[in-house]
Amino acid sequence: MGSIEVVCGSMFSGKTEELVRRLKRAQIARQKVQVFKPKIDNRYSSDHVQSHDATRILSIPVEHARNILDLVDDNTRVVGIDEAQFFDESIVEIAQKLAYRGMRVICAGLDMDFRGQPFGPMPRLLAVSESVTKLSAVCVVCGNPASRTQRTAGDQGTVAVGAKEMYEARCRFCHEPDLDTYQSRLRASVHSLGSASNGNSLTSGSNASSPALASNEQPTHEVLL
Ligand SMILES: [Zn+2]
Repeated sequence: MGSIEVVCGSMFSGKTEELVRRLKRAQIARQKVQVFKPKIDNRYSSDHVQSHDATRILSIPVEHARNILDLVDDNTRVVGIDEAQFFDESIVEIAQKLAYRGMRVICAGLDMDFRGQPFGPMPRLLAVSESVTKLSAVCVVCGNPASRTQRTAGDQGTVAVGAKEMYEARCRFCHEPDLDTYQSRLRASVHSLGSASNGNSLTSGSNASSPALASNEQPTHEVLL
């Protein structure tokens, strides 16, 4: 009974914790579990926030999504994929192949980047999955549920991976994406109609043009159970 589950949301929404929770339950049920995540530089000088629990499973860093197919054992029942947003589009086909092979595939990842745009392969992954869990964080500005990731610092042209201090969770209304994005234009059009929900300025045009990646979660090499 293979299937695909997606756990998505902004940074600080607890996606990895939810992934780990599901994997832990599978292990209690004596199902063989394997976890993969994209190999990204500087992700491995990790703090060990989750190491309060002694049990851990190694998550295997892979260069390309296709490597997962080679590395999955035949007797594996549950495949965890963390940071799924960083894989290329082929992760969608690979997740489906694994599901057709009878495996339960659980993908965790950011649904939006820091500009509020759909992130990488996540939209298609969401579409083909059997189950979607969209988690929210807490908006650091107003305290409402946060769906978006705000980039607060850094060279906007670079890929900032694993620098969690450069991001914070915000709700739709407190999120200030860069002025060039679709999201910003949407907001601007609402403002011009005089029905904006709050007085947030749209002057934060500092987020520049390249599709920099908003990183997610703890930069841990291992998923700890
Ligand atoms: Zn807010």
